[in-house]
Amino acid sequence: MSNDGGSKFSIERSLTPVAAGERAQLLKNPIFGRVFTDHMATARYSAERGWHDAKIGPRGQFSLDPATLVFHYAQEIFEGMKAYRLPGGGAALFRPHANASRFRNSANRLAMTPLPEELFLDSVRELVRLDREWIPTTEGAALYLRPFMIATEVLVGMKPSADYLYCVVASPVGSYFKGGAPGVTLWVSEHFTRAAPGGTGDAKCGGNYAASLAAQAEAAREDCDQAIFLDAVERRWVEELGGMNVFFVFQDGSLQTPPLTGTILPGITRESLILLARDMGLTVREEPYAIDQWQADAASGRLREAFACGTAAVVAPVGKVKGRNYNFTVGDGGAGPITDRLKAALLDIQQGRSPDTRGWMDRLF
Ligand SMILES: *Cc1c(COP(=O)(O)O)cnc(C)c1O
Repeated sequence: MSNDGGSKFSIERSLTPVAAGERAQLLKNPIFGRVFTDHMATARYSAERGWHDAKIGPRGQFSLDPATLVFHYAQEIFEGMKAYRLPGGGAALFRPHANASRFRNSANRLAMTPLPEELFLDSVRELVRLDREWIPTTEGAALYLRPFMIATEVLVGMKPSADYLYCVVASPVGSYFKGGAPGVTLWVSEHFTRAAPGGTGDAKCGGNYAASLAAQAEAAREDCDQAIFLDAVERRWVEELGGMNVFFVFQDGSLQTPPLTGTILPGITRESLILLARDMGLTVREEPYAIDQWQADAASGRLREAFACGTAAVVAPVGKVKGRNYNFTVGDGGAGPITDRLKAALLDIQQGRSPDTRGWMDRLF
């Protein structure tokens, strides 16, 4: 059953892994989220048996009854994290404890049975160890991990599920925004909001993404890369993108990011960048920022840079902002010096080039 480290996950190797030559081809320039490794981790929960059947086995399909709860009421949560190659051939996860604890918070908000954090950590660590050949070695690339949990009770009735399925799949990824990061164009979503006070904005659940897709489609129609959301009450305060937090950089070198009031997802990249910026001696405020102020500050030059951040893209400079009532360029439309410095500082830790003074890296081998 168990292997090194006393993991609760039994391991069954795939009998049909992708051949080394084909894998090398797939790892060259994977499109985000389209290429997957040979294995997956799964565990099940039922009231009678608690968490059971923890295993890492060949990646395969699920067979689910059409009346399975998740199909009807979207009781689902997920995480996103990365394993990085280190100089010398080892590998490490970045801050997996933070993902484990956020996964627990998301479960509680969606009235799901939380997965014990040790099981979460075991699942991602053991999956990456087994699929280690899938961690890309190219600069900026990583193995993206997608833990998720769904309600599996067979019932078309409105109540929290009695049964759950937890799963982790892994996907080698290159750079999120193709062609590097020249500055993304954001569409200000003035009609659609993403999260309201008391809602699920600070839980990482698929439902939040489903609710953001119409705004994202509007952004695409307007030739923008991503939608950016305003608060649902006043439609005035900048909150975040569909899947990334946002930072503003001012002329005096200070930074600002919207505070975690319950409608914003507490990003691990966001928190890491706040700490790294303060290490650099920069002032970081967690304070609301109004969209009109952003436009005025961009025009006056008081605002110099802005960037979005999250595990997938790490740091993406914001070049332009458009909306029915907005149209402005941030700085010179590309990455500014403070954005670049912060991105490099974070990537240097994640890729093992600079010392890990906070114990963020979870060494796997
Ligand atoms: C996942 C996510 C983020 C970024 O979180 P990280 O932990 O930095 O990856 C930001 N906003 C939303 C809505 C998210 O779902």
